[in-house]
Amino acid sequence: MSWWGMPTYLPTSLLLILILLSTGEHEMEFCTGDESELLTKKTFCDKDSTHEEFIPVADFHSGCLPESYREKQDVFDLIQAAIHITVRVVVEETSLDRPEGYTCHKLGRRGGLKRFGSGWVWSSFRSFSTKDKETCPCKECFTNKAVARSQWGQFIVRTAKHVIFDDFEAQHASCELNYDSEDCRGKCDTLLGVEVLMSDIDGDFSEVTFVTHDSDLSRKLEARVSHYRKLFNKLGSKNNAAHDAETQPVVIISHPHGCSKQISIGVVSAERDDYPRNWTYTARTCPGSSGGPVLRLGNWSLLSCVPPHSGSRTLEMNYSSEPWLF
Ligand SMILES: [Zn+2]
Ligand SMILES: [Zn+2]
Repeated sequence: MSWWGMPTYLPTSLLLILILLSTGEHEMEFCTGDESELLTKKTFCDKDSTHEEFIPVADFHSGCLPESYREKQDVFDLIQAAIHITVRVVVEETSLDRPEGYTCHKLGRRGGLKRFGSGWVWSSFRSFSTKDKETCPCKECFTNKAVARSQWGQFIVRTAKHVIFDDFEAQHASCELNYDSEDCRGKCDTLLGVEVLMSDIDGDFSEVTFVTHDSDLSRKLEARVSHYRKLFNKLGSKNNAAHDAETQPVVIISHPHGCSKQISIGVVSAERDDYPRNWTYTARTCPGSSGGPVLRLGNWSLLSCVPPHSGSRTLEMNYSSEPWLF
């Protein structure tokens, strides 16, 4: 028994039912044992039996894009830059503060159960070279002042609120970079979660700070984020929005089933007028895609209008979180 009085171990079949009841339309993946379980889940996926419309990172090229975008090098470059900052999010605990009826409310804290989603590094928050009297705010440094680092790199990661709900979950979360093929499993650079800076339950988005103690990784990631934002600014300044809103293509980058990074392409089929003004699209997603960036081609004038993926109603009716601006 755990200290809060609930059994931490349940037979797998009961746990699977609990997970099913807990997640609704949101698309996280779960793992109760070794991570090789994730590939089995992908093989026996009951949403998309073939996954043939998902494109592995190594196979993505400009010919994968809709015809009118194939010659646009700046669009291809932006998607590549977004691929390089997209992360697999792993959350090892679930908050008891999730409200009743909300995704994973019934799960409670259950040792050994990992949740998987996606996200992207949106900005660099603190450079590794910054010098002041503070120490790194990560759980490891905070709980052991004797080894607390005086230099660290800090980043903001965007994901869905149902993936990282609050500070407790942030402190039990990590982000893995460059998980681009199954060969990368266990070898990826990792960021450690700290706290939720901003989030909204109805809009289904979270901005979470993550840190690294690795100076090389910090500098490399700062450069990648800066490159992505420069490309976005360049496209925004062109105001390249001459496309019918109902047929605008979307590109989603995510980690379906908590496995390697994939790209999926589709079109926006519906868009809500009231909050959350989420978009519904045909681009394929699966459990584990929650939180991945949804790039809407032709909407570059809205600089930060890249919502995380949120949920799914059918194979071709997948939808985003609120495409918020600030
Ligand atoms: Zn699937
Ligand atoms: Zn630290």
